[in-house]
Amino acid sequence: MHKVDSSLKKEVGKFGTGKWQDCFHCGTCTAACQLSDSRHLIPRSTIRSLQLGLTSKVHQDLDPWLCYYCGDCSETCMRDANPGELMMTLRRYLTSVYDWTGISRIFYTKRHIELWVILGVFTLVVALFAIFLPPSAQLFSNPEAFLTVQGGVAINSLVDGIGSHAFVGIIETFDIAMALFIGLLLISNIIHMWTRTVLSRTEYVVPVQNYFLELWQLIFHFSVQPKFSKCSDKKYWGGHFLMMSGYTVMFIMIVALLPKFQTEVIHPWYHWQRLLGYYATFGILFFLSIVAVKRLRRTDIKLKFSHISDWLFIILLLLTTLSGIFLHFLRISGMPAATYFMYVFHLAVLVPMLIVEVPFSKWSHLAYRPFAVYFARLNDSAIRRRTNSPAYV
Ligand code: SF4
Ligand code: SF4
Repeated sequence: MHKVDSSLKKEVGKFGTGKWQDCFHCGTCTAACQLSDSRHLIPRSTIRSLQLGLTSKVHQDLDPWLCYYCGDCSETCMRDANPGELMMTLRRYLTSVYDWTGISRIFYTKRHIELWVILGVFTLVVALFAIFLPPSAQLFSNPEAFLTVQGGVAINSLVDGIGSHAFVGIIETFDIAMALFIGLLLISNIIHMWTRTVLSRTEYVVPVQNYFLELWQLIFHFSVQPKFSKCSDKKYWGGHFLMMSGYTVMFIMIVALLPKFQTEVIHPWYHWQRLLGYYATFGILFFLSIVAVKRLRRTDIKLKFSHISDWLFIILLLLTTLSGIFLHFLRISGMPAATYFMYVFHLAVLVPMLIVEVPFSKWSHLAYRPFAVYFARLNDSAIRRRTNSPAYV
């Protein structure tokens, strides 16, 4: 039994668009949606729950995460209700529902706060470097002393009194602490999501073995996003895949395996480490530039409406990638002082992007989406078992 909550529409409207009433349930959007099926009438059934003010049903609903915002439904809606954007708004709202800290809600609804927090973390990283890891005075008087035999900059030796290994150790310790912080927050929020969307179902209980049987879906959907590829605009899926794979490669290189990658050796351009870096950089920049231009031009329905979190995400990722490119070329060109300052700037942008965006804002969809597919499979498998109906694809 779901109670009616008259404040739901107003509450959800704070996270983006609030055009719920424009929908008169013709069902055209669901017919147009390539991801809709007999158990997930995307997006119409979610819009219906919202119009009725069924808060607990909306909190249980995984359909907003099964939508990849291809925009087909918005193109066909004769009421101009923009159902694709309604689903986007709901994803922001649900992110705040899963986030037990309440920080996502503040970031999404009090628009300037996220920007100030990002600027605060940026300043903190710069201050920590200035206080604890300031550039060596020699950097300006005798920069040649910091060049390696290959002519590039010895990046781990730019700070006085700390050996190369100790420097990487300090940055790595910070990396691990940051990864733990992000990981614990995300895991706790995903558990919260699971209690809302799977455990709270009173009609059925998911058999324990199904959690193992469906686990490959989680990995598969995280890696390839096959549902996204079903949308009519395949180019968008391809571009998104390039960016996501590039970002994952970068994350592994600079967070998980830092000591292996931040060494003093300047590899030739065809070395696998550099090629991986170039792939990741190209993947991120290519897709990001297309999205940024389309958001500015506002001609594509799915990128017509931009929330401040969309722009913060683009700007942070763009600055991180561009500063990483500059850092790389300053280093291999043998410019130690410029390399140090670019290194600090790069980390000062990267850190807020990771600790603000990943657990609390736009980046969190990276985790919620594949888990939503996994949880939806669990729910569907339990319904199939209860009703003895055949499996569907
Ligand atoms: S096409 Fe528009 S009016 Fe029709 S059900 Fe979808 S959102 Fe509602
Ligand atoms: S935006 Fe695309 S995937 Fe999302 S509900 Fe509309 S048609 Fe379906």
